[in-house]
This record gives sequence, C-alpha cells and structure tokens, in this order.
Amino acid sequence: MSRRKKIYEGKAKILYEGPEPGTLVQHFKDDATAFNNQKRGTLEGKGVLNNRISEFVFAGLERTGVPTHFIKRLNMREQLIREVEIIPLEVVCRNVAAGSLSQRLGIPEGDALPRSIVEFYFKNDELGDPMVAEEHITAFNWATTQEIDDLMAMTLRVNDFLSGMFSAVGIRLIDFKLEFGRHYENEMVRVILADEISPDSCRLWDLDTNEKMDKDRFRRDLGGVTEAYAEVARRLGVMKDQPSLRLVEEGGA
Ligand code: UDP
Repeated sequence: MSRRKKIYEGKAKILYEGPEPGTLVQHFKDDATAFNNQKRGTLEGKGVLNNRISEFVFAGLERTGVPTHFIKRLNMREQLIREVEIIPLEVVCRNVAAGSLSQRLGIPEGDALPRSIVEFYFKNDELGDPMVAEEHITAFNWATTQEIDDLMAMTLRVNDFLSGMFSAVGIRLIDFKLEFGRHYENEMVRVILADEISPDSCRLWDLDTNEKMDKDRFRRDLGGVTEAYAEVARRLGVMKDQPSLRLVEEGGA
C-alpha cells in the first residue's frame, strides 16, 4: 500500500493513484473529526463500515440511473473510483430540521420541513465551510448555472432514493451532505456524484425511537458510535457475509 502514490489525504479518507489512468483508490480511515477539526477521535471499524455502506448506496444509485464515481469495492477499506475534478461545494439536503438549520433559524430539531430544502456550502476548511447562494457560486465560477441545475436535480433524486431505502429498514433520513465532481471522458464532461454517503454524512434517526444512528453520536458525545453505524449496516443487509460484524482486516489492507 505504501508504494502507491497518495493523491490527497482528508479527515476520514485517503485517495491513492488508481491502477489505470482516470481511476483512484478511495481508502476509508477510522478517524473522525467534527466542528471543523476541533474535535477528533478514532472509531475502530468505522472506515470498514462506511466503505460497505457507501458501496451499497452508490451501487443502488447507479442502478437507478444516478451517475457516480463508484466503480467497485476492492477490499474492506477501499474502493475503486473514477477520478473527477471536485466541485468546491457541499450540497446539503434536509427533510427534517436539525443541526445548523435549527441553530440558525430557531426551528426545533425534529420538526418536519414543509418541503425538502437544498443548501450550498463553500468547501473551505479555513473559512469553516460557509453557506453560499447561487449568486456566489456563479460569480466566483465554482459551478455554472447548468451545473447547479444538475446538482439540484441529482440531489433530489438521491433524496428520494435514500429516503425510501432507509424508511424500508426503519430509519428516518433527516438530512445529508453530497459532493460532486466533473468527470472528463472522450472530450465530454458531466457532473457525477462523488465522495461517500454514510452515517458520517447523513443524519439517520430510528423511526420508532428517534435514536440517533449517525455522526451526531460522536459530535455530541453520546457513545456507541460504531455500534450505531453497524446497526445501520445490519438493517441495510450490508456485511451479511460477516454476520458477527467482526471488523477483521483483509490482507493487511
Ligand atoms: N455534513 C457533513 N459534512 C460537513 C457538514 C455537514 O457531512 O462538513 C452533513 C451532516 O452530517 C448533516 C448534514 O450535512 O447530515 C447537515 O449538517 P448541518 O449543516 O446541520 O451541520 P452540522 O450540524 O453538522 O454542523
């Protein structure tokens, strides 16, 4: 693994050069951060779970016609992905008030929103990922008007898919964050879904008890973080090949 060229290291993932041009290997770490890096921790097995959950979600999205960077899972912590030029935006979609929306607008956490809301944040750690409007996005050339339309439409399709998928297993999708990239192929460019979809990037509440099954357990020191992620995986039927959910590493990966 150390022989591979590291392209980028983020908070929870590392990107390595892929086996063929135009591909990368996305490696899921156990590291967790919150509040723009002010809170840090290591959650043993989180990377393995997120790799499998994200694989399951991205494969499902591909089947429903949402283009993504996912090609295939390689091992317990890694997947082969298409190389993209990341659009510097975090696209958040909300169905129920929580987190920063509740704080900024004083809407109690747990209130259903009148309709799904899509928000854009500028990806910039130094600035703490500030919220931006379409005006900023086009004025600063982060994305074109056409690309914003594509991001919106794809985000709402992902929301429909995820909401149905999670409600079928007794989980309420409160909100989630997506990232997109430009994929260049045969002199064509199109926007595809990138990054990951996992309990690190979604708020997921148990339908019956409202118990949190996502990264808020880490952010708010609720404990049982990996156990909650494992329960999400179990309900989705992910990692059925390892019913005990023992997070044993394959081949030293
Ligand atoms: N989110 C994320 N990465 C970020 C910021 C937010 O994955 O850098 C996700 C977060 O897990 C939640 C949704 O986006 O599912 C909305 O987050 P919010 O704006 O409420 O911010 P937070 O409360 O996480 O600061």
